[in-house]
Amino acid sequence: ATPNDTDTKENGGGVTRILPSDSVINLDHGDPTMYEAFWRKMGDRCTVVIKGYEHLSYFSTNKNPCWFLEPKLEESIRSLHGAVGNAETDGYTIVVGTGSSQLLQAVLYAVSPQDQPNPISVVSAAPYYSSYPETTDIVKSGLYKWAGDAHGFDKDEPYIEFVTSPNNPNGVIRGPVVNRAGGIVVHDLAYYWPQYTPITSSIDFDIMLFTASKCTGHAGSRIGWALVKDKEVAKRMISFMVVNSIGVSKESQLRVAKILQVVADGCKRFGSPDGDNFFEFGRNAMAKRWEILREIVKKTQMFTLPKYPLQHCNYTGELTQAHPAFAWIKCKDEMEDCEELFKGHKVLVRSGRRFGSDPGYARVSMMGKDDEFNQFIERLTSVIQMCSGDH
Ligand code: PMP
Repeated sequence: ATPNDTDTKENGGGVTRILPSDSVINLDHGDPTMYEAFWRKMGDRCTVVIKGYEHLSYFSTNKNPCWFLEPKLEESIRSLHGAVGNAETDGYTIVVGTGSSQLLQAVLYAVSPQDQPNPISVVSAAPYYSSYPETTDIVKSGLYKWAGDAHGFDKDEPYIEFVTSPNNPNGVIRGPVVNRAGGIVVHDLAYYWPQYTPITSSIDFDIMLFTASKCTGHAGSRIGWALVKDKEVAKRMISFMVVNSIGVSKESQLRVAKILQVVADGCKRFGSPDGDNFFEFGRNAMAKRWEILREIVKKTQMFTLPKYPLQHCNYTGELTQAHPAFAWIKCKDEMEDCEELFKGHKVLVRSGRRFGSDPGYARVSMMGKDDEFNQFIERLTSVIQMCSGDH
């Protein structure tokens, strides 16, 4: 919808768009706009002022191999992981990127052998994040090549495996599936935050990728970071970044540094009347959405949703279930094209095909604004009523 065909209304913390009932709802992308209400409530606490004479240089520090990493960002990344307890940072080099998307490319370059006649195979277990094949093959590199579903990888040769946990699109906690000598595993932990999944341990894999996009919802700042154990791998990632973009915007880094520090400070308090615990806000909002969705899906034979185990979350101290960033919906009718079915009701979702799975599945973003989610629920209800002849 364009700004001209939406109404607005005042809603406590700010203005909410009201979508017209016949507009197209785009839940294809994982655009994390649901957190806007929290950030509005934080008012000026995250405001960053940058003067015209500041941060002109390419350089940020001479104390770190990643010389374009702003020290304040490094500090707040380490302090946030410490406060949440989701990943170890001691002994790791941090490499900042323009989103973790750029770091995915940096990592492929950094871990691929440079002296082989053929490109190394890159795999991920289906259903895999739909950008992996695109990112891997876009420049038709001579160093690496997309080789598809990790479950089907049977070559006796080195490989790179992307492991996404919790997984995009289905929210499942995963480990590597190939498990063979000569394998390099890259852990994409974009969704390993308490609003999406129980935090069951502080992870210490060799290469871990995170992004502000899914952690705090600041996708527009385009800041991601890699925690890298091997200093030589980190150095090669940094070389890629230098050739690719000579570093990462200082303005973005400083804005995200501030945001992450506010999250890290607030997330130690639970139930504060101030309501400044970002993860508490995010978890409650996601839990409510999942409850509404499950309630509707329970009433029909048409769709199923994945089930997630109850696990102890070390961060909240509670036994909780996952509330993933995406709903991975399966049409029970094997012949149904799930994406087309929703498109017929003006809801854009992403077909299972794009994730190396089948068209009976579709991925629906659970991270949109309230009005988008509410409209999705209304339309899902009418899909169910129409198909059951109950209208
Ligand atoms: N990894 C995964 C699993 C993702 O879902 C995404 C965003 N959809 C990314 C990486 C990239 O995010 P960004 O470039 O915004 O950091």
